[in-house]
Amino acid sequence: MTEHDLPLVNTSDLNQYLYCPRRLYYLMFYHTQGLNFVLADGRSKHAHQSRRGQWYREMYLRSEKLHLHGKIDLLEGKTNMTPVERKHGTSFFDNDEVQLAAYCMLLEDYLDEPVRMGYLYLFGTNERYAITITDWHRNKVLQVVEAIRTMSLDRIPDFADNPKKCEKCSTVQYCLPEETRMLQEESARMEHGGKDQPANSKLTDKEH
Ligand code: SF4
Repeated sequence: MTEHDLPLVNTSDLNQYLYCPRRLYYLMFYHTQGLNFVLADGRSKHAHQSRRGQWYREMYLRSEKLHLHGKIDLLEGKTNMTPVERKHGTSFFDNDEVQLAAYCMLLEDYLDEPVRMGYLYLFGTNERYAITITDWHRNKVLQVVEAIRTMSLDRIPDFADNPKKCEKCSTVQYCLPEETRMLQEESARMEHGGKDQPANSKLTDKEH
């Protein structure tokens, strides 16, 4: 397989990967999400969008050059075309900015003109934030796209850097972070000459 045979990366997967690479691994290889939505060529945008005033809905774009594809839900077109990414909740994170940057890069590849900013809109506060797309965002997009393209079934990524993420993760039933940690602790105890007793057996002789 050459690099040209690798599938394009879905923009929303960048967000998942940055939340936890292991989460994207389960979503991709255990088919817990529908990855194969119908792709449409961005050059036929007028056939794939609806327009209300200066708002455009649902523009599908793909770029062989960026190895990316995705659907921009909302675009503001007052002066320049500007992607708007809408999020639930009351705050946003780096991974949301990187996903927005990916939309901006797809759009500028299609328009063949710079797209230097996008908006993040938060449903939780009804606020909109203008995000300037920097070199950091662009490099991050390219770096994560490359990392996702080289993921494979036989290389499972590490657990999340922050265990609190697991509390809200929908793939926790595949991943089993807590159970794995307990098993690792148990086998470490055995390796260091610990007694072969259940991990949850904390009672001392006196307590018996
Ligand atoms: S449960 Fe935690 S480690 Fe596992 S995929 Fe989810 S976030 Fe990552």
